[in-house]
Amino acid sequence: MRTYFSLLNLAVIMIFVIGCQSKGSAPFQSEKNIMPMSNHEKNIVKSENPYYSRTDTTRLHVSDVEWKKVLSPDLYAVSREKDTERPFTGKYWEFSAKGTYYCAACGNKLFRSDSKFASACGWPSFFEQENLSSVVYQSDNAYGMNRTEALCGRCGGHLGHLFDDGPPPTGKRYCMNSICLDFEAAN
Ligand code: FE
Repeated sequence: MRTYFSLLNLAVIMIFVIGCQSKGSAPFQSEKNIMPMSNHEKNIVKSENPYYSRTDTTRLHVSDVEWKKVLSPDLYAVSREKDTERPFTGKYWEFSAKGTYYCAACGNKLFRSDSKFASACGWPSFFEQENLSSVVYQSDNAYGMNRTEALCGRCGGHLGHLFDDGPPPTGKRYCMNSICLDFEAAN
């Protein structure tokens, strides 16, 4: 009889424990599945790129194999394979909010919004880089043209091109791909 009651107690305890577990886990999972991604969560996803930093200015030397693991396919195609997004399609070509633009691949500070100007070219355009190490250049003779390629000064990723038809005071036009830019609004 004593053994019978022990087994009965054990069965009751197990049913209680299993019940608590199912009640505790089910709402959490369903909430996680239906909740839209918040800005905080987007930042967490971004933080999975171990090379991304808005404070570390150390020059990066990362292989394309490694970049491919941490960048989205679209960003990888532009940043590492020098692809160009179609004009009038990027999220920043017709965008005038006040703030700062960073490299979307590594977090390097690139431009201030007060150096951005409305260009008819269909890509976000700036007349001045944020600091001397924001953007670096190299000659680009692809497609039968002689252009100056603009690259991130920290990660070496392709950003766009630099032209001499910009407005005063510099006369420069940094013609950028939106996908290579992260924007942070001014407080
Ligand atoms: Fe970069």
